[in-house]
Amino acid sequence: MRLLIKNIKTLAGILPLDTERLCGEQMQSMESIDGAYLVADDGVISSFGPMAQMGDVEADEVIDAEGRVVFPAFCDSHSHIVYAGSREGEFRDKIAGMTYEEVAARGGGILNSADRLHISSEDELFEAAQRRAWRMIRTGAATIEVKSGYGLTTEDELKMLRVIERLREALPATIKATFLGAHAVGRAFKGRQQEYVDYVCEDMIPKVAEQGVAEFVDVFCDRGFFTPEQTAQILECGKRYGLRPKIHANELASSGGVQVGIAYGALSVDHLEEANEQDVLDLKNSSTIPTVLPGASFFSNLPFAPARMMIEAGLPVPIASDCNPGSSPSGNMKMLWSLACIKMRLSPEEALAALTINGAAALGLSADRGAVSVGRRADLVVSKPVPSLAYLPYSFGEELVEKVVINGKIVCTNE
Ligand SMILES: [Zn+2]
Repeated sequence: MRLLIKNIKTLAGILPLDTERLCGEQMQSMESIDGAYLVADDGVISSFGPMAQMGDVEADEVIDAEGRVVFPAFCDSHSHIVYAGSREGEFRDKIAGMTYEEVAARGGGILNSADRLHISSEDELFEAAQRRAWRMIRTGAATIEVKSGYGLTTEDELKMLRVIERLREALPATIKATFLGAHAVGRAFKGRQQEYVDYVCEDMIPKVAEQGVAEFVDVFCDRGFFTPEQTAQILECGKRYGLRPKIHANELASSGGVQVGIAYGALSVDHLEEANEQDVLDLKNSSTIPTVLPGASFFSNLPFAPARMMIEAGLPVPIASDCNPGSSPSGNMKMLWSLACIKMRLSPEEALAALTINGAAALGLSADRGAVSVGRRADLVVSKPVPSLAYLPYSFGEELVEKVVINGKIVCTNE
């Protein structure tokens, strides 16, 4: 199966095949070609270059991308899209001035989602999550990480992870599963946080590993949630069972989450709204990737993570959606592109690197995803007609994704 995309106004996001992450000023270095073509054979990019060099190409499928920008599809390395119901009631309460604690006291927050998930069937959860995932795909994502964490009992966590497995089978996108049993303390363990941590380690993790339904282990390590010591206990246990750490850290306070993540070889530490200079320095001396989530900052009215400072320090920064019902109910990566430029002062090119190659790196997938290279997977976005690449984040809120190509096949076309 051969796909040809021709007459591309700008082909962006080009990197050498052996580049697996872009650090610091390298985030500016993705190349582009104006007036380009691209060929993919059996899902893999086999050639690209200026139109003048295309020659005669026979293809099974041809996209004429005149006036359009083509760039690597987004890699969303942090989401929570398996959930039941929505929480716009809390949205109303927060607008009216209620604090997080007051919302929680009225039955809101993660425990609210856990209650609703408990009474939902696996099929209901699957149908709702599949609709959300398709919304993400239609807006340009080809790789999506999905976490458990609204179960908070072994049975319900496994139910969520089975739903994620079904998403992997049903969708054209690459789906990665993360076990987040320590998202909050389950209701049955109210006031007994350490006992809950022991339950996560002794009951949940062995069963998750036995069923082979997750690749990563995550912990909400932050003020008011799990301590660095408890996080260490869970990561240590996860590692024994072959689960690589990817953790939530420093959303609410500089709480030691970054350091515990580094100590246990976390692939990424995510959120970092409250990251300080010491955190950045420690990350610099590690291979752990700092992932920022501007949608959560925007929706929850929190400070934005100091992505600029991280880039100046030479770190590889990915951007992910954190799509979840409470603090970031959107998986629209193009909107995050705008937020990264406007609120974090990333250039459009730096932000594109954060949304693609560095997102793939935060999932261990960047050897063959996240950029335009001969030999990488043809996961691509074809824009609607636009004046330039920078117009995409500039025209915030405008839907400008026309076609999404995954594994060399057109999986959706937006009117
Ligand atoms: Zn999250």
